[in-house]
Amino acid sequence: MRLSTLPALLLAFAYVCGSPSNKVDNVGTFWHVSDLHLDFYYDASATDLAQVCPSSSEANAFNPGQWGDYRCDSPWDLVHSSIYAMKNIKNDPDFIIWTGDDTLHTSNEEKWLSEELVIDTIRNLTNLIKEAFPNTIVHSAIGNHDYHPKNQIPTGPNHILQNIADMWQDWMTPEQLHVFNTSGYYSVLPEEFPSTYIISLNSNLWYTSNKLSSGTGDPADQFAWLSQVLTDARNNNKKAYIIGHIPPGYFELVDYKPWFHEEYNQRYNALVRQFSDVIIGQFFGHHHTDTFRMFKDESDNPVSALWVTPGVTPWMTTLPGVSDGANNPGIRLFEFDRTTMMPLDYRQYMLDLEQANTVGAANWVLEYRATEAYGIPDLKPNSMNSLLEVMTSANTSCTDCVENRVMQKFALFNSVSYNKQYCNATCQRLHVCSVAHVDYEPYLKCVNGFSSLHKRGFLCGWSLFIVLLSIVVYS
Ligand SMILES: [Zn+2]
Ligand SMILES: [Zn+2]
Repeated sequence: MRLSTLPALLLAFAYVCGSPSNKVDNVGTFWHVSDLHLDFYYDASATDLAQVCPSSSEANAFNPGQWGDYRCDSPWDLVHSSIYAMKNIKNDPDFIIWTGDDTLHTSNEEKWLSEELVIDTIRNLTNLIKEAFPNTIVHSAIGNHDYHPKNQIPTGPNHILQNIADMWQDWMTPEQLHVFNTSGYYSVLPEEFPSTYIISLNSNLWYTSNKLSSGTGDPADQFAWLSQVLTDARNNNKKAYIIGHIPPGYFELVDYKPWFHEEYNQRYNALVRQFSDVIIGQFFGHHHTDTFRMFKDESDNPVSALWVTPGVTPWMTTLPGVSDGANNPGIRLFEFDRTTMMPLDYRQYMLDLEQANTVGAANWVLEYRATEAYGIPDLKPNSMNSLLEVMTSANTSCTDCVENRVMQKFALFNSVSYNKQYCNATCQRLHVCSVAHVDYEPYLKCVNGFSSLHKRGFLCGWSLFIVLLSIVVYS
């Protein structure tokens, strides 16, 4: 053997037999899918564009096709395509997280929805997921559109919840079902991953649009229960994932849109900080956008991250103040360490809806991989916070600056590559403040005081101008 071939052989041996392959073996995966919002009335062939879907609330659809329209909720073909894209990309995930909102948005619920239609929709989606993933456990949470009338989920047992419990009995034990049936929340210690509880919240009980909760007290004793599960987890040396539909904090596409009543928001955030040694991931939906939230302790150290996964529905939000708030359909595959359950990375997949309708094929593609796109080693709170710091320091006037390139990428991914508009200083302010601050007062301080960034960009621009001018004058 020639001496020079030895190092190459050693390297090959290390590659095949060494730690890298062990590391790969230890990586598990789970899908996170959210906000399917099936509009079973969708009719792309309607001649009157205002009549394509009730989810457009009589606005004209833009360019309806087989897989939907940016003004409408998901037709069945889109819902089916998204679940089967999950199957085609990764058919044997360790589990699936499904965070709710199954029915269509409409301004006329009396006409288009009923208790039975809500139950039927949830049943259709449950059956579809079971058909595609017959051997996979689904950890599920209910959304504000999984009730009739929407948002008004009561604090106790009800007809809809009971029906959902029946549909989901393959995924829960009788004890978990009993808790879910009475409250809409439950927790699981998965047999395969006994180190980590999966806690499914009914955060709709804390939603400002739920008229059945006043913003005080503890609806359905959910805070007391959550605190108890987290205490038990800590006492037994376990960790926890929290999954839910509506997240705490603010929506990033408008100046001021909190979801929870202020008291509930404070209580939830306080619990996350108190148990940040136990909680290793928070997974939510509801926004239909792609973003995350940082939780920091009193010393401003990042202690927990919350990921908001984008929706399958492309529906353009009608929330006042949002312009062009549609998105491409998205599904997300997380990777985690099978021993510690720590989330390591995620791959965001998307369907370019316009292209799908044009070419007549639903081609789901990888939009980005978190660690690659953002240059972070993993999804730990410190890593997510380093992404936030880059976004905060970006000067949106500097198109070539590395930080701004990351900011622009983040803003594009926020709508699953639907909204390609340049993210200016206002857009940056909304993204950065909502990611950095889940508490109401610091958030408001941030959105109102963020102009220092503009000033810095402005001053930098002027300094450059003065330097250039002096070169011209003195040369
Ligand atoms: Zn939704
Ligand atoms: Zn929702």
